[in-house]
Amino acid sequence: MAKKYSCKNCGAELYFEPKSGKLHCDYCGTDYDPAEYDFTAEEALSDDDTIPQYSEEGGTGADADGQAATDESVSTDDLVVYKCPHCGAEVITSKKTVATTCVYCNRAITLTGNVKGEFRPDYVLPFEKGRDEVEKAYRALCRSSILTPRKISSESTVEKIKGMYVPYWIYSFDGKASAHIHAERVRTFISGQDEVTEISNYELFEEGTGEFVRVPADAMKAMDNEMMDTIEPFDFSKLEKFNPAYLTGFYTQQWDETAAENEPRAKSRAKDALSSELMRHIGSYTTARVTSENFAWKDQKLELVMIPVWMLYTEYKGEKYVFGMNGQTGKMMGSLPRDPMRLVEIGAAIFIIVQIILMIIRIMGVL
Ligand SMILES: [Zn+2]
Ligand SMILES: [Zn+2]
Repeated sequence: MAKKYSCKNCGAELYFEPKSGKLHCDYCGTDYDPAEYDFTAEEALSDDDTIPQYSEEGGTGADADGQAATDESVSTDDLVVYKCPHCGAEVITSKKTVATTCVYCNRAITLTGNVKGEFRPDYVLPFEKGRDEVEKAYRALCRSSILTPRKISSESTVEKIKGMYVPYWIYSFDGKASAHIHAERVRTFISGQDEVTEISNYELFEEGTGEFVRVPADAMKAMDNEMMDTIEPFDFSKLEKFNPAYLTGFYTQQWDETAAENEPRAKSRAKDALSSELMRHIGSYTTARVTSENFAWKDQKLELVMIPVWMLYTEYKGEKYVFGMNGQTGKMMGSLPRDPMRLVEIGAAIFIIVQIILMIIRIMGVL
């Protein structure tokens, strides 16, 4: 069902406003709690009501760019046509789209039929950072990195800023780890005329447990895993029960990586945490290495959560760069271009400092 959210007071369109956490009407200024616009019983049950599938002959000529969130390579088989609830135009989008914007009237459309069954999130983490904060965070990131070209902030252009909810699988579980560790302690002392080195070997066995609460892993192939991991953490105490009204004005799609596919990502983070805790626990040795390790998991709980991310697309000297910003905390990540000349400049500065220090030492030596 292609749905719009309209003001109960004046009928104008509502948007989710990150700063207030409310659905806001720009026209009359009224704010609504998203809970007031929860799924209707009919929506929760109704089947998808798309109009017949898009084909090349029957298309409207518009392309699907901007409709399919991040999936740049959708084939026509994956496309579907909805009637825009605002202007009535036929909007072409990916079958997996949950929330998008009409290419003709630029107003928000939520496809409530696409958040059913296994695609229905348990929770949503609402946006707290607004669109106006994205470019500011990008400029600050440019200035903070010493290896980026000096003029990148003024010479790069921001092409597009897009607010997205990314579906995440969130895992909670208990973990138990045990490890055999070989450790050595090396002691050197003087005995009479001799310097003696004493090496003591230890075979250690350590065991420990850990409770892992809400370990996140994004469930979209198109998202760069490394970037998504680096915009963490998220404050999950602010989760809200899922309701599609939160999605108005943003883009989102159904997950396309299963919970089972993503589980190793969550588990490898838990393993790293348990391993380093065991190593910390053995105390101090000169060297220590794990010879065998064993992990066991229980009481696993799984949640599907929509996580807010601002995507920023920039261009600098003909190259395109993508950045992601945590929509809750404002933490921004992405790869900035590197300027090889900056390394030379920094290298030259260090060389000069070293030369000056050496000169001072020489002069002091003469004195
Ligand atoms: Zn209104
Ligand atoms: Zn429209």
